[in-house]
Amino acid sequence: MSRHDIVLIPGDGIGPEVTAAVRRILLSTAAPLCWEEHQAGLASIDVGHDVLPQSTLDAIIRHGIALKGPCTTPVGGGFRSVNVQLRKKLNLYAAVRPVRNLDGIVTRFSDIDLIVIRENTEGLYSGVENEVAPGVVTSMKVATEAACTRIARWAFRFATRRLRKKITVFHKANIMKMTDGLFLRCARNIHEQEYPNIEYETLIIDAGCMKLVQDPTQFDILLLDNLYGDVVSDICAGQVGGLGVMPGANFGDNQVVFEAVHGSAPDIAGQGVANPLALLMSAVMMLNHLGDKRKDSDCLDAAERLKSAYNQALADGCKTHDLGGNLSTDQFADAIIDRLHGPGDDK
Ligand code: NAD
Repeated sequence: MSRHDIVLIPGDGIGPEVTAAVRRILLSTAAPLCWEEHQAGLASIDVGHDVLPQSTLDAIIRHGIALKGPCTTPVGGGFRSVNVQLRKKLNLYAAVRPVRNLDGIVTRFSDIDLIVIRENTEGLYSGVENEVAPGVVTSMKVATEAACTRIARWAFRFATRRLRKKITVFHKANIMKMTDGLFLRCARNIHEQEYPNIEYETLIIDAGCMKLVQDPTQFDILLLDNLYGDVVSDICAGQVGGLGVMPGANFGDNQVVFEAVHGSAPDIAGQGVANPLALLMSAVMMLNHLGDKRKDSDCLDAAERLKSAYNQALADGCKTHDLGGNLSTDQFADAIIDRLHGPGDDK
């Protein structure tokens, strides 16, 4: 089997640190991957290019798959989010974020196994903001029947393939009757017309968040619009150990960009202490995707070995600072690599 060309975007802040660690770990699995590095974010501006160069987009279009580090977005001004631009330009409409307990990370609940599916292209992320009068600004929430139906169908199909039982939509259609009303109507139509076998429920988002914090084990798949998906993803991360352990993938019909849920963490950037696990888990999702879509058993095998290696490392108490440990990014990567090869293996 030939190698898979993967676009690697190191990104900003802790991005280059965690992508380097993950690349080193992946190299030691001997997974059939070939990296093509491209820039985006502040890192791209620093070398005199656009924040999201066309060459980076073209590479993702060409190869179909990217592993991406986080990119910084200035608050309250400056350029538009690279992440939002990337998702919109490539139509990566479905963000998937699995939320599971991990060995050795003690949290309030021990049997969480849910998946957040976030609509990635519209809602309050439309970027349409106006000053309608001095001191009066607006932000436009956009919902289209096409995008709401597309994400609902994607979520129900995903649930069916993964043998999941229930989809819960969080919404605020009591207040945003048109936009959230449309999101709900499209989801209900897909449920009734195409997937009546999957259980379907809806919750007003404030009550939904309370239930999520009280007992996340009652949820299976959460289907959310763009902003709700963003916020609820971080609530979910908090339930299983934090942003350092929350992976993700952004799916379009033709490309997939795998990236952790966390951002560029400027508060710890450059210190060598970031947890590379969320990006590594995103890379495991990538290997499983390659294995399934391109029928490559080497990728499936590497994914399986990586999962047991990081589970074993955590169970042995090897942890970065965010998880209460004292390992640096590189030391944690070494702990995983050691467990990939096992004692006596000098590969
Ligand atoms: P953040 O996710 O970067 O950080 C939140 C907190 O979690 C910080 O205390 C940080 O130290 C910690 N944290 C995050 N990832 C960690 C890791 N791997 N290991 C250890 N600790 C980790 O969120 P923020 O501070 O709100 O955002 C910082 C920047 O990142 C902003 O510019 C934001 O726009 C951007 N951002 C980018 C993405 C993306 O590229 N997909 C996602 C979210 C935020």
